[in-house]
Amino acid sequence: MLPFIDLATQQARIRPQIDAAIARVLDHGKYIMGPEVAQLENELCEFVGSKHCITVSNGTDALIASLMALEFGPGDAVITTPFTFFATVEAIMSVGATPVFADIDPHTFNICPDEIVKAIVKTRQDGRLRLRAIMTVDLFGLCADYESINQIAKQNNLLVIQDAAQAFGASTPDGRRAPTHGLVGTTSFFPAKPFGCYGDGGAVFTDDDELAETIRSIRVHGKGADKYDNIRVGQNCRLSTMQAAILLEKLKIYQSELDARETVAAMYSQHFKRLNEQQNHDATIGVPQTPADNQSAWAQYTLRLKNREQIAAQLKKHGIPTTVYYRTPSHLLGACRKLGYETGDFPNAELAANEVLSLPFHPYMNKETISIVLTSLKTTVGR
Ligand SMILES: *Cc1c(COP(=O)(O)O)cnc(C)c1O
Repeated sequence: MLPFIDLATQQARIRPQIDAAIARVLDHGKYIMGPEVAQLENELCEFVGSKHCITVSNGTDALIASLMALEFGPGDAVITTPFTFFATVEAIMSVGATPVFADIDPHTFNICPDEIVKAIVKTRQDGRLRLRAIMTVDLFGLCADYESINQIAKQNNLLVIQDAAQAFGASTPDGRRAPTHGLVGTTSFFPAKPFGCYGDGGAVFTDDDELAETIRSIRVHGKGADKYDNIRVGQNCRLSTMQAAILLEKLKIYQSELDARETVAAMYSQHFKRLNEQQNHDATIGVPQTPADNQSAWAQYTLRLKNREQIAAQLKKHGIPTTVYYRTPSHLLGACRKLGYETGDFPNAELAANEVLSLPFHPYMNKETISIVLTSLKTTVGR
């Protein structure tokens, strides 16, 4: 079986540096909030162009800490996408707030600005919830349409919270990098994400001094002047020094990996476009679309296929693994049942859930591995 994501090649590339970084932490022994944590936060700020970075224990806690700092709770509503990993929705619900879904744009898989406007009108007319924010997700590494979303947010007095767990460092036409498009943005360092560590990790980014200070407090049990001066109810959600040390080494090669991801994606797309031109209409492959002047972080390379299950089974026979992100849109998950949504509420998200198929993808795919996937897919789609 071909690997779906290859983390071993990256590790081999920087293994001596990783070993040395871990050894330095073992030598100084500051396992919690050691010097690597602050250094990483500074370097991440520089990389994405943010004033503050607060590293935390994972991407879910990054969202929860942000919502806690902004005092979201029961009665508050947050507009978000139904086509995401459940953690986005879970964070909103875990602070007691209510997710209000808005359907996706079928071309980008990201939340659709027009649908956000509809959700705002509907929620405000209904009047039961206090609508306070839009939580965007940069799905598969591609930034949401922030030009439109930020304008809508401003007009409607809503905050923008950006879940860039899959898109760290991705950029929009204005040159901004995820997660710096909203008031506050988060990412995840889960190993399989574009910028991953060797365990759990995450971070929050903001330019707001007060918000940053509150999130730093929440990260350590709501500390005030020190850990034993507790001024609010927080959490324990620090990033470990060991993971920070590993991430510092990985950051040195991250831009080259983002560039390599772009190259691999372009090779895939070029081939599929050519294949589409040769095929009859029924066999059309939905190639991922990146709006002009966006650079995706390519967390996944995801096709749309009418006969997904058949193609996935055929590829498996050829030793090619594939994955479906996500088979069930959030509004239809058991955990969201109490929100009262039904099949048919978000047709674009539901159709995407039935058609998406992610191919093996990582920055270290070479021409040979890419062509193994392509050849198998060509024989499968062609039949
Ligand atoms: C992975 C992911 C998260 C959660 O990150 P963890 O570090 O696993 O907690 C949140 N949102 C999205 C969109 C993700 O893909």
